[in-house]
Amino acid sequence: MRVLKFGGSSLADGARIGAVTAIAAEAAAGDKTAVVLSAMQGVTDLLIAAAREAANGPDGGRQALAEIRARHLAAVRYLFAAPDQPAVIAPLTILLNELEEILHGIELIRECSPRTLDLVMSFGERLSCILAAAHLRARGLDPLLLDARELILTDDTFGSAAVDFQATYARIRSRFAAINGVVVIPGFIGSTAGGVTTTLGRNGSDYTASLIGAGAAAGVIEIWTDVDGVLSADPRIVPDAFILPEISYEEAMELSFFGARVLHPYSMLPAVEMGIPIRIRNSRNPQAPGTIIGAPRHRSGSAAAAVRLITGIASIEGISLINIQGGGMIGIPGIAARVFSALARERINIIMISQASSEHTISLVLRSGEAARALAALESELALELSSRRIQALERIDELIIVSVIGENMRGKPGLAGRLFTALGEAGVNVLAIAQGSAERNISIVIGENEHALALRAVHAAFLADPAAPPAPAAPAARPAANPGAERGEA
Ligand code: ADP
Ligand code: ASP
Ligand code: MG
Repeated sequence: MRVLKFGGSSLADGARIGAVTAIAAEAAAGDKTAVVLSAMQGVTDLLIAAAREAANGPDGGRQALAEIRARHLAAVRYLFAAPDQPAVIAPLTILLNELEEILHGIELIRECSPRTLDLVMSFGERLSCILAAAHLRARGLDPLLLDARELILTDDTFGSAAVDFQATYARIRSRFAAINGVVVIPGFIGSTAGGVTTTLGRNGSDYTASLIGAGAAAGVIEIWTDVDGVLSADPRIVPDAFILPEISYEEAMELSFFGARVLHPYSMLPAVEMGIPIRIRNSRNPQAPGTIIGAPRHRSGSAAAAVRLITGIASIEGISLINIQGGGMIGIPGIAARVFSALARERINIIMISQASSEHTISLVLRSGEAARALAALESELALELSSRRIQALERIDELIIVSVIGENMRGKPGLAGRLFTALGEAGVNVLAIAQGSAERNISIVIGENEHALALRAVHAAFLADPAAPPAPAAPAARPAANPGAERGEA
């Protein structure tokens, strides 16, 4: 069995949906095929805008809803002959009308909870699947349209629900055992044991595809998008970025966790467990071989790739740093533990932490959207220490980004950090914090967002200038980090 997942970038309009069903039909001619689909490009954003508007704005989300409706109807007109259109428009209209009622409900109560937002967001994938399934039918196939909410069981962390793997795999296994042809499944959505709709987080359709692949013991999970594969850096920022023919699950996980949105970071977990390769492919260029993500032992890349120190660079925008400073922290056990607990209670995700060996400063790196809540939680947790001046200050710095360099070959290469800081230093980039993952597969640094492109290009040029180039010369001796205190950290 093959799983083919098409992202919103492959589902922008009728023409693109037609290209997707052509690829899916070709796959289905040879193998049992599961087609996992995202919403049409931009539709999830429109749904979020509609819900926000309904809750707060003057137009009740009507404009966004009208745009969603128009996008789908235009696709129907493009894909189907006039006599066939009503049969496709009917089920779309039922869903769109239901969405309109929900938005009206939000408008009446002037409130949209995360739970309701998940329900609203679920319409994007459900609508695109109706369209694509109908078009596969027009191509002569007999697709089965499944509701992912009957397969993917999650908890109730709305917005990024956690999957119950055992139950989910069991459901997928038994459902797919009885299926032979082609199946269309909406990505991104699941449901709680009580049947409440949830979502798996932005870009979550990749994760759905991987869950389906693992549950049904697929031979391959193909993620079809709008680039030829995983690139050494975000191509919109680094023009020299190049396709990586093969990377390990861990490299892919690190790259996606640190901002390469080509793949949802959790997508690797189900695939790793079952040893299923993930292939990234381009729906605009199906001839391209793409990138294979698998276990490192399967790697057979070029000699240059085998010895290249780093595999890729990724970055996360919208980052803030909170420094907890104070001589009084020295020797008091448990400050870090209390800081973590206080933030965990607020469900705040710390992306990086570094502590100075002198214990004068703990630096926490998190998303800016969570910084105000984090600061409030820390002020209350550390109130005693703050009032007794054992902790002098909680300092917040905004408008930052994290840049991560990632690669299996980084392990046990002491000169690497030195080269990284030399490259950044020569480009005039100021580093605020540093952390190295304990597996030594990544080094992450925090810098100002205005130095984003500068830093990425400088690091790419220093480590990845030419994919065919011979290995880099011996690394110069490591020099002290720009923030000498930040040598310890978990990323
Ligand atoms: P989809 O809608 O298919 O899920 P996404 O927009 O979520 O597509 O992800 C694909 C995009 O990810 C690409 O168009 C590219 O701009 C961006 N991207 C960022 N970093 C990378 C990278 N390292 N490799 C490939 N693409 C990347
Ligand atoms: N449609 C969802 C999003 O835009 C999920 C996905 O595309 O994977 O985030
Ligand atoms: Mg995506």
